[in-house]
Amino acid sequence: MQQLSVPLAPEQAGAAAAPLLAVRNIEVIYDHVILVLRGVSLEVPQGKIVALLGGNGAGKSTTLKSISTLLASERGAVTKGSIEFRGRRIDALSPGDMVGMGMVQVMEGRHCFAHLSVEDNLITGAYTRPIKGAEVRDALERVYAYFPRLKTRRTSLAGYTSGGEQQMVAIGRAMMAKPSMLLLDEPSMGLAPQIVAEIFGIIRDLNEKEGVSILLAEQNTNVALKYADYGYILESGRIMMDGPASARLQRTRTSRSSTSGCRRKAGRVFAA
Ligand code: ATP
Repeated sequence: MQQLSVPLAPEQAGAAAAPLLAVRNIEVIYDHVILVLRGVSLEVPQGKIVALLGGNGAGKSTTLKSISTLLASERGAVTKGSIEFRGRRIDALSPGDMVGMGMVQVMEGRHCFAHLSVEDNLITGAYTRPIKGAEVRDALERVYAYFPRLKTRRTSLAGYTSGGEQQMVAIGRAMMAKPSMLLLDEPSMGLAPQIVAEIFGIIRDLNEKEGVSILLAEQNTNVALKYADYGYILESGRIMMDGPASARLQRTRTSRSSTSGCRRKAGRVFAA
């Protein structure tokens, strides 16, 4: 990725604080031959929501799986560059290690245990922590405070709940692990706009009230930028643009053609 001409992250105007997550110039190859990501770099500052935007097949899920170290299970590998979480290289770590360090990924497609109740699905998220009994109950109540719908549906089989509720179960289950960082893969996928707004509102609450930093991959650019602090646009495995989310929205609302005050990257423009 080219050197940025303006500060990369919103709060980095002064002395640069180390980002919580730093992806530097990674290349990813599947099956030893399929080159999918080329020179991808991004940062997630502590306490921020960062959106990774792009269409089908752009490489969003691959980027998230590289970060959570789930790539190996799909015969993929990071062959160049580096990824640091909390200042530590993650190359030799397992997905379990990442959860232990506070990073949890919510996979695309929700992936609930259909034959378990909503509550039992949530409880599975706590197995990574040494808690039981009253502590699990407390953790559940904390999740229900953000997802009141799940409390009313807690005895229903997850397979019989709506798509929006299943997405809530998937995020709520991730929260049971008490993460400091969530990787969310297309939380809006296949959901009605009203439900998408509800889920993104909860995501913002989790960020603001629980202090969870979030990297979310989305095709729904407008929704993602409305809730994110910063955005990166991925096309064909390369970051083509990046900038503060508010600036991008402003640009969308005013003029798509105006480039004044914008900065260029790889021949394209992200409003700044
Ligand atoms: P989508 O929104 O459709 O999931 P995406 O931006 O998340 O798209 P990826 O799923 O990361 O994109 O896929 C990027 C490219 O990598 C695609 O061309 C895809 O076919 C390819 N790819 C993904 N997973 C594998 C795999 N396990 N083996 C080989 N190629 C893969």
